[in-house]
Amino acid sequence: MSIEEILSKDTLSRDDIAQLLSAESPEEVEILRRKAYETMLENVGDKVYLRGLIEFSNYCVNDCYYCGIRRSNSNTERYILSVEQVIEAAKLAAEFDYGSVVLQSGDRRDNQFIDYVISCIKGIKEATRSEKYPEGLGITLCVGEQTEETYRKFFEAGAHRYLLRIETTNPDLFSKIHPQEQRLEARIEALNALKQVGFQVGTGVMIGLPGQTLDDLADDVLFFRNMDVDMIGMGPYLPHNDTPMGKQYETTEEIKQWRFNLSLKMIAICRILLKDVNIASTTALQTIHPTGREEGLRYGANVIMPQITPTEYRKNYMLYEDKPCVSEFAAECHSCMQMRIASVGRSIAYGVWGDPLHFRNKQRN
Ligand code: SAH
Repeated sequence: MSIEEILSKDTLSRDDIAQLLSAESPEEVEILRRKAYETMLENVGDKVYLRGLIEFSNYCVNDCYYCGIRRSNSNTERYILSVEQVIEAAKLAAEFDYGSVVLQSGDRRDNQFIDYVISCIKGIKEATRSEKYPEGLGITLCVGEQTEETYRKFFEAGAHRYLLRIETTNPDLFSKIHPQEQRLEARIEALNALKQVGFQVGTGVMIGLPGQTLDDLADDVLFFRNMDVDMIGMGPYLPHNDTPMGKQYETTEEIKQWRFNLSLKMIAICRILLKDVNIASTTALQTIHPTGREEGLRYGANVIMPQITPTEYRKNYMLYEDKPCVSEFAAECHSCMQMRIASVGRSIAYGVWGDPLHFRNKQRN
């Protein structure tokens, strides 16, 4: 079947999705991209929502074999921002009119950490409340697997979105890239708990993992749909030299390019299938290609997360090598982002939370 024929179907099967992912010729890929862009315009419009990204700590109890801030990496200097520093960063986001912030860190489940996150949420809400933001900035959390009780505490403190990537839905592959105590089922349970609590929930996967097939990625997309998630954040897998996977597999420029192209096709397919969700164009895309995030927008993404982590800490939040925007200041990232988004003919929705329409549409039905 041709790409056009697949795209004209009402529902896409696993094989259909895998075939779309295998499209290589520029003409075929352009047909896919255009369909995704049209679907985006029809369902969510052309606005881009911003979330100021605060990577507030790299302490982590997990030991993911791909991640540069894994527990066992002793070459990383560990840090945690003070609650005041987090609030200052959020105030900057309000000044830039981003509407929302994302608080991201390594995984920790101790009470001290949980209380700290709650203080950050409440502090941000209080410090950013204004005529413009009667309820303060929107807050997305990305602080890993927690109990339902903890998720409820975070929600009650005022956070309302949560990102937790499933990383891959293939159980064998999941167990190859994580230590035994980290379980795929636990991730799925956590995603269900987040929904139960009332969060707008986002998930995603790494793309181009060693051993990952196009069928695996097709299953991932179908998982997103079956979980009825509101947001998607995905990006290419990138090596980090201080990790088991970074050491084990060689990554050539050609492989990186392949992962990049595959990531763009994944964004397009998610847009076509999931329609009214928010899809982030992630930093990892820009690591491979200088205009990677703009490309993500062209393939149907509608969210960008400009860095507002205080500059001196950025170099210690290296999930993978060559992460961009490490030495810039927040104001530079701000103007750079405006230029990048304008360069692909899109405009920014300033001063709004920018909730995924999918969440609202779901509640209306
Ligand atoms: N501890 C939090 C935040 C982790 S970092 C959590 O587990 O949710 C956020 C994401 O970065 C991870 O979910 C993973 O998908 C991605 N990531 C980590 N290492 C990476 C690598 N080497 N290449 C690409 N993405 C990576």
